[in-house]
Amino acid sequence: MTNKYMYFVANWKMFGEPKAVNSLNRVIKFSKQRKSNKFKLIYCPPYTLLNLFSKKLKKTKIDIGAQNCHQDNNFGAFTGSINPQMLKSVGANYVILGHSENRSSGENDILINKKVKSSLNSNLKIIFCIGETLLQKNNKLTHKVLKNQIINGLKGIKEFNNVILAYEPVWSIGSGLIPTISDLKLNINYIKNIVKKNFKVKKLKVIYGGSVNPKNVSELNKIDIIDGFLVGSASQDSKKFIDIVQKTFI
Ligand code: PEP
Repeated sequence: MTNKYMYFVANWKMFGEPKAVNSLNRVIKFSKQRKSNKFKLIYCPPYTLLNLFSKKLKKTKIDIGAQNCHQDNNFGAFTGSINPQMLKSVGANYVILGHSENRSSGENDILINKKVKSSLNSNLKIIFCIGETLLQKNNKLTHKVLKNQIINGLKGIKEFNNVILAYEPVWSIGSGLIPTISDLKLNINYIKNIVKKNFKVKKLKVIYGGSVNPKNVSELNKIDIIDGFLVGSASQDSKKFIDIVQKTFI
């Protein structure tokens, strides 16, 4: 149970065709009925559905995010890429950056830092993902990895109002495994301290992602320093996604 303002980010990954827009009906109804201003829902469908989702969600309080973007904010000869201003033009106001699925296909901290800067410069809010692999965890490198990802990925950022950090242990994504509550507490506190110390920030939003579902969310929510959840597979089922939100507030 929480009294805090909470963020719930639905990462649809590479799933969804235009008919998927109908699955938003249930969430729209939920968000209208529930007049609480204590949470923000952010849908991050694939690029191909951004326009459709933003039209559908136009008169609601639900926001739209993309799952990645190109690092250059100008138009140019970058086949297959989408820049931050193109995302804004179809109604996105958030973008997920540094997701481990993109890091593992070659994105490094330098590239991610460029994306962070061009997105923030375009007035997109960023959901900046960090997290350790299982090997790094087993070798007790978690804090070192988190520190490097934060310091290098957010280099040069002075204003954190438009930044949400998402702690997503790589071994937890899609595996059904979640960290112990004590590890999660330790790591989120560590993240908050590193950012505060290195970027002179007083207030920082940190959400957790990795196999969040309606069954484990109450347990995860025992940690009062969490500002919300980044939900992958469970978010594609509106009923489960709503359940996750509801259980957070019970
Ligand atoms: C994710 O992709 O960011 C994620 C957390 O996925 P899942 O919830 O499926 O583990």
